[in-house]
Order: sequence, then C-alpha cells, then structure tokens
Amino acid sequence: MKIFILAEHKNGNLKKATLELLGASKGADVAAVIFGAGAKAAADELAKQGVQTVHWVKDAKFNEYHPEAYAKTAEDLIKAQKPAFVLGSASSLGKDLIPKLAARFDAPVATDCIELSLEPLKVRKPFFSGKAAAAIQFESAETIFISVRPNSLPAGSVSGTPGKVNELTPSFDFSGSPIQFVSRTQASSDRPDLTEASIIVSGGRSLKTKENFKILFDLADSIGAAVGASRAAVDEGLAGHDMQVGQTGKTVNPSLYVAFGISGAIQHLAGMRTSKVIVAINKDPNAPLFQKADYGIVGDLFVLAPLLNQEFKKLLNKA
Ligand SMILES: Cc1cc2nc3c(=O)[nH]c(=O)nc-3n(C[C@H](O)[C@H](O)[C@H](O)COP(=O)(O)OP(=O)(O)OC[C@H]3O[C@@H](n4cnc5c(N)ncnc54)[C@H](O)[C@@H]3O)c2cc1C
Repeated sequence: MKIFILAEHKNGNLKKATLELLGASKGADVAAVIFGAGAKAAADELAKQGVQTVHWVKDAKFNEYHPEAYAKTAEDLIKAQKPAFVLGSASSLGKDLIPKLAARFDAPVATDCIELSLEPLKVRKPFFSGKAAAAIQFESAETIFISVRPNSLPAGSVSGTPGKVNELTPSFDFSGSPIQFVSRTQASSDRPDLTEASIIVSGGRSLKTKENFKILFDLADSIGAAVGASRAAVDEGLAGHDMQVGQTGKTVNPSLYVAFGISGAIQHLAGMRTSKVIVAINKDPNAPLFQKADYGIVGDLFVLAPLLNQEFKKLLNKA
C-alpha cells in the first residue's frame, strides 16, 4: 500500500504529530514532503524512520506556508506516486492543505479524525463540536485524504529500512500569485505547543488579572505542560489569543487537561473534550465542567494551583 504524508517540522525538529502519522503507516510504502530551508534534520529523521522517499523542498521561499505553492507541489508529487492515502495532521497547515488537495483530486476526505487504522480501514471523527463521533466509510477511490488530530495516535516509525532524501526544487511563480506572505508574529515560548502538548493547564476568567496567570505558568513549568485559556480570559486580556482553547480557538487533545476556574461552556468543551483525562478545579460545585471531568476539586484555584505545584515539585524532586 502506498501512502503520502504531509510532514511538518518546528525549527527543524520533526513534529510529534507527523511521527503519529508514520506510526499509522507502519509497513507501507511511504513517501513524504517537507517544506523549508530549515527542515534538513526533520527530512533526515523521516528517512531514518523508514519513509522511503522524503521530498525536501529546500528553497527558502517555501519557509512560510503558502497555500498555492504547497498545494501545487504536493499535487504534483501525489500525481506521480498515486498513493492510496494522503495523510496530514489536523494542524493549521493540515486543516487548510488536506481539503484543498482533496478538492483538486475530487477525492474523498475526512478531516480532524481521532481514530485511524489503515488495514483494515477504520476512521472516526467528531461532529457537532465533539458531542458525537462517527465512523467514516469512503466511496472507493484511487486516493483518500485524511487529517488526524494531534495526540490521537501513538508515535511510531514506518519500518527499520531507512529511506532517502530527495532535494526538490519546484517551479512555482510566487510573484505571479495573488497570495503574498507579509510577516509572521510568533509568541516566543519554550513551553510545548498547545495543540501537541500531552499536559495542559488552562485558566479562565476567574484568574482576574494577566499577572495571576503566573501561578499557572509556574505550575506548567514544573510538570512540562502548555498553558491554555478560555475565551473569556482571552477577551478580557488575561491571556494571549494563541492560548485560547475552544470552538473559536485551538483544538487540543492532551493526555491530561487541568482546567482552573473554567465553567465548562459548550464552546470551551468543543476544543478540549477529547482530552484523555480532564481535571476540573472550580469553587462552584455546580460548574458544568464537573459533568465532563474525570476528576474534580471543589475549591479556590488561588489556593489549589500553588499547592499542587508544591506537591508536584516534591514528587518530581524539583522542590
Ligand atoms: C460563538 C462563540 C464562540 C465561543 N468560542 C469559545 C472558545 O473558543 N473558547 C472558550 O473558552 N469559550 C468560547 N466562547 C465563550 C463561552 O461561551 C464562555 O463564555 C467561556 O468559555 C467562559 O469562560 P470562563 O469559563 O473562563 O468564564 P466563566 O463562564 O465566567 O466561568 C468562570 C468560572 O470560574 C469559577 N471561579 C471563579 N473564581 C474562582 C476561583 N477563585 N477558584 C476556582 N474557580 C473559580 C466560577 O465558578 C466559574 O465557573 C464562545 C462563545 C460564543 C458565543
């Protein structure tokens, strides 16, 4: 079986979400594309993990996501390989590129899937802001396009046989495109990416001030977590937009989601309800999030967050 993977890197490191796609492709004949001058180490890693042909688009013009340039390059590679599946992660890149490519091939597509096995084919994806999940069946087609929510699958390798890296120079007329890259504003943080993090601590409006979020940052740093926020916290300027979890923010899927003073509105749940373990901390015992939580503590976050931090530090010998 042939598979084509849209691989992603961050600062040259292969993203964990891409390794999850490799795990799902175990034993298949896999090709991948990765973009950007800084992607050499990630391209080498893909080859080491058993991707037989890694197309590395080294041209610095491809450093930033350009929908037309990326789609045209991937389209040409997919036409040449004729894979049974094209896989990408449901990252901001994959959310844009996978449906775009499927449309170009007039092919079936399932996006933001939370379960995937290719042989036999089993695909599930959430609907209605996560209130329901559906098993997807496809019409028979030469190629099927699937994007997978990060943290849904175990990371893995394709095979023990290393592949090779092919430096690719696509001819794309950037100057003739109506889409021009202008600039990138990036929040600088050493913490894990919210969408890929395996632990997230998240805060709501109840934090009251931007400065108070420090108690969550301190806790996050003790346990290697990312920090998220509700929309109310973001709207009130307590947290950055890049931290918003929910229907109009980021979709996260960690092993552990600890919500401090978040009521559990449906729009917040839409972004985090597939978390494997949910812990709600709220001083209102009737807060709706307790209905969804695996564990709950009724109490004041300003007491509990520092207390938990202290206990975690002791357990992790960081005290
Ligand atoms: C179209 C649309 C899209 C939306 N998209 C999103 C989205 O993407 N993400 C999102 O989060 N929301 C979204 N919302 C907003 C959503 O409906 C809620 O308003 C929001 O999630 C509430 O945030 P919150 O839980 O922080 O605040 P609140 O609902 O005000 O809850 C605060 C909670 O903190 C508790 N609390 C207060 N003080 C303490 C304390 N000291 N210790 C412990 N607990 C305490 C309270 O009991 C309460 O439960 C959207 C709304 C709409 C209409």
